[in-house]
Amino acid sequence: MDIHEYQAKKLLAEYGVPVPKGGVAHSATGAIYQANELGGDKWIVKAQLHSGARGKAGGVKLCTSQRDIAKFCDKLLGNNLVTHQTGPAGKMVSSIYVEEASDISKELYFSIVLDRAIQKVTLIASTEGGMDIEKVAEETPDKISKITIDPAVGMQPFQARQLVFTLNLPNSAIAAASRAVMKCYRAFRDTDANLLEINPMILTTDNKILAIDAKMSFDANALFRRPEIFEFRDKTQEDPRETNAAEHDLNYVGLDGNIGCLINGAGLAMATMDMIQHAGGEPANFLDIGGGASAERVATSIELVLSDDNVEAILINIFAGINRCDWVAQGIVDLLNKRDIDIPLVVRLSGTNVEKGQKILKDSGKKVTTADTLSDAAHKVVAAWKQATGK
Ligand code: GDP
Ligand code: MN
Repeated sequence: MDIHEYQAKKLLAEYGVPVPKGGVAHSATGAIYQANELGGDKWIVKAQLHSGARGKAGGVKLCTSQRDIAKFCDKLLGNNLVTHQTGPAGKMVSSIYVEEASDISKELYFSIVLDRAIQKVTLIASTEGGMDIEKVAEETPDKISKITIDPAVGMQPFQARQLVFTLNLPNSAIAAASRAVMKCYRAFRDTDANLLEINPMILTTDNKILAIDAKMSFDANALFRRPEIFEFRDKTQEDPRETNAAEHDLNYVGLDGNIGCLINGAGLAMATMDMIQHAGGEPANFLDIGGGASAERVATSIELVLSDDNVEAILINIFAGINRCDWVAQGIVDLLNKRDIDIPLVVRLSGTNVEKGQKILKDSGKKVTTADTLSDAAHKVVAAWKQATGK
C-alpha cells in the first residue's frame, strides 16, 4: 500500500528525520491558510497523488504570493494529473501540501528497499538526486552506492557513515546525514515498509540535511498489525476495479485490452494472457478466482469482470484441481439466470468434475461457447470478439 508524501513526512518526522514544516489542504483557501500559518514569503506547493515525477508534470511549484498558490490549486485540485508513472488516465489530486521552501545546495538520492531475493534490506544513495535518478542508474551506475543490512542484526551506525561518506558532503553535515539515515531505517523497519524513497534528500545552503520529498510503501500483508498506517489508505488513488475485487477477497489485475479473463492461479493467468495475445487479442484484465471457489464466488467474479467498461468478450479458463468444474459451471449458469450478458462468453473447463460441469452448461440452454484446450479457447474468444465488435 502506498501513502501520500505528506503522510510519509509526518511519519518520518515522528522518527526524527528532518523534514520541512508544512500543512495539507483540500482547497485554495485552505492552502493559503497553511501558507500564512507557515509565514515567510515563499512556499513549495505540491499536488498529492500516489506518483513521483510530479515536478516534470507541473505538480510542484515554488509560489511567492497568495495569488500563485490559488492559481496552482485551481488548476490541480479535483483534476487528474498525468505523470510518466501514472499511466494515461492520471491520478486524482484531492489534496495539496504547502511547505516552507528550502534553499538547495545539493540534491541527493536516498532509498531503502526490501530485497526479497537475498532476504535483506538494501540502502541506496547517490550524489545525483533530483528528478532523473532512473537515468543516473542507467548511464552512470558507479554514482550509486549501496549497503545491505541483515534485518536480524539491524543497522549499525558505522554502516550509515559508510554510505554517507560516498556522498561528498561537507564535514559539518556528515553526522546529521548519518543520523537521518539511521532514523529512516528505524522508520522503515518499525512500520513494515517495503520501500522508503527520499528524492531528493538535500543539503541546504546552510549545510543542513532535509528530506524534501518522501515516498513510502508498505507490505499489505502486515497492515493488520499497523492500523495507524492503514488509516493512511486513500482509495481515490487505487484502480477501482482492483479495490472492488479485493473487497471480495479476489485478485484482480486491470490491463488495457478488451477481453476479460477469469482464471484460477497466477501461472494459468500468465499462460492465458499470452495465448490471447497469440490469437490476436488483448486482455482487459484477469481475475483469479483462487482454489475451491463456490458457485456464488464464480458468479461474483463474472460480475466484477463485467463491471469493467473495456470488457467486450469474456474468457473463463479453469483448470480445476482443488476447484470443481461443476461448481464453476453452476456459478456461470446462476449468473446467466439472473442477468443477460450481451457479449461473447467462452468457457474452457478442465480437471476435477469436468463432465459434470460441461453437462450443467449444456443442460442450461444458455448461450455459452465451450472450448477444449487453452489454445482453442483463446482463438474462439478472439474470433467472437472480432465478430461482435467488427474490430
Ligand atoms: P517529484 O517530481 O514528484 O519527485 O517531486 P519533488 O518533491 O521531488 O519535487 C521536484 C523538484 O522540485 C525537486 O527535485 C526540487 O528540485 C524541486 N523542489 C522541491 N522542493 C523544493 C524546495 O523547497 N526548494 C527548491 N528550491 N526546490 C524544491
Ligand atoms: Mn522527488
